[in-house]
Amino acid sequence: MLKYTKQSDPELYELVEEELHRQEQNIEMIASESTVPLEVMELSGSVFTNKTLEGLPGKRFQAGSEVADKLEELGWRRAKELFGAEHVNLQAYSGSTANYSVFAAVLTPGDRILSMRLDQGGHLTHGSPANWVSKIYHHDFYGVNAETEQIDYDALEAMAKEIRPRLIIAGASAYPRLIDYERMARIAEETGAYLMVDMAHIAGLVAAKLIPSPIPWADFVTTSTTKTFCSARAGMVFCKEKYAKMLDRGTFPGSLGSIHLHTMAAKIWSLKYAGTPAFRAVMQRVLDNAQTLARALDERGFRLVSGGTDNHLLLVDLRSKDISGKVFQNALDSVGITVNKNQIPNDPASPFVTSGVRIGMTSTAQRGLGEAEIIRIADIMERIAGAPEDPAVLDACRAEARELIFRFPLYPPGAFDC
Ligand SMILES: *Cc1c(COP(=O)(O)O)cnc(C)c1O
Repeated sequence: MLKYTKQSDPELYELVEEELHRQEQNIEMIASESTVPLEVMELSGSVFTNKTLEGLPGKRFQAGSEVADKLEELGWRRAKELFGAEHVNLQAYSGSTANYSVFAAVLTPGDRILSMRLDQGGHLTHGSPANWVSKIYHHDFYGVNAETEQIDYDALEAMAKEIRPRLIIAGASAYPRLIDYERMARIAEETGAYLMVDMAHIAGLVAAKLIPSPIPWADFVTTSTTKTFCSARAGMVFCKEKYAKMLDRGTFPGSLGSIHLHTMAAKIWSLKYAGTPAFRAVMQRVLDNAQTLARALDERGFRLVSGGTDNHLLLVDLRSKDISGKVFQNALDSVGITVNKNQIPNDPASPFVTSGVRIGMTSTAQRGLGEAEIIRIADIMERIAGAPEDPAVLDACRAEARELIFRFPLYPPGAFDC
C-alpha cells in the first residue's frame, strides 16, 4: 500500500506508517472504532473516487453514470436483503449526514424533536446546543430511570403525549442496553410522531441478527457504517417504502452533494460480507467478550452502569475506585489501552473530567482476543485504577499489554508491503 506516496511524499508516508504502528501496538477499546477489512481499504481508494455524480440511477445529473448505476443498484439489493428493509439510500457520507437527510426529509424549522439526553448516551446530532441542528428545531430530551439506569419509557411516553413531537429519536452512543423499539413505535404512533432509530453503534450486531433489529418498527433507520458494521467511513438510511421519495429528496438535494462512490463501493462489499458466517462469528465474539469483561470488572470492584451490557459496549462507573474518567483514560492510554472518558447518568463530574469510561469490544474481537485475554485486560485495568501514577505499575502493565496484543496481528503480516 502507498507505493506511490512513499516515492512522492515520504513525509506523509511516514505518518501513515506511524499510525499503522500505533494501531498495531494498541489495545483499541473505543466503542465507536473497528478495523476495516483490506477490501474496504482497496475499494475506498478505487477509481470510483474520480466520478462526480448526483441523483439516483435513472435520474442522474451527469453523463457517464452507467457503471455507477449498476454499483448503486447492487448496493440496494444487498442492503435491503441483509437488513430486511423496504427502501435504502446509500449516499450518506457518515452517520451524522444520515441523520441530517432524515431531518431534511421530514422536518420544517421549528418542529419538535424528542431524543435521548446527550449526557445519558444520546448523540451530538440529536440536539446538542453545539450542533447547528439545534438552531433549527426545538429539542426535548428523555433519559434513563435513576434506579435501573435504563430508558424510562413511561416518562418518555408522558413527555411525548404532552409535547407532541414531530420526530422521536431512539438510539445512542453510550447506552449498553437493548432498546424497546416496539414500545417506542407505539408511543410514536399514539402521538403522531415519526420514529427514527439511529443504530450507528450497533448496526453490525443487527446485521448479524444477534440483537433485535429496529427495521420492522421504525419509519427511518439511520446508521454510520464505521462502528460495529466495520466498514468505510460513511453511512446509510433505511425507511418504509411510503417514505422512499421523501428520504431520497432529503438526501439529495436536501442535505448532500455529489455521491462518494468510492466509499459506497466499500460499503457494498461489507453488505455482502456482513451476511457471512465469518462476520457473524466476529460479532458473536464481540458480545461474548463484552459479557466476559463485564463479569471480570464487576468481580474486581468496578460498578457497571445499568448492571451490565447487552451489546458491544460497557459504561463503567469509577466512583467505587476513587478515580475520574479522565485520569483513568490517560493512565490506560499510557500503557497502550485506548478507552474514552464518558459521563455516567446524573454524573456529578463535568464532561471534561467524568466519573466513567466507555469501553467497546469490537476491535479486540476482530483481532481474535478471547476470554483469557479479556480477563487479563480486566486485571490490568484493576491494577491501573489502584495506582494510576505509579511508574512501576504502569511499566509492568505496558509490557504486559504489549505482549498480549502482539500475538494478534491487526492485519495479516505483509499486507502493506510495497
Ligand atoms: C457515531 C454516531 C453518529 C455519527 O456517525 P459518524 O459516522 O461519526 O458521523 C450518529 N449517531 C450516533 C448514535 C452515533 O453514535
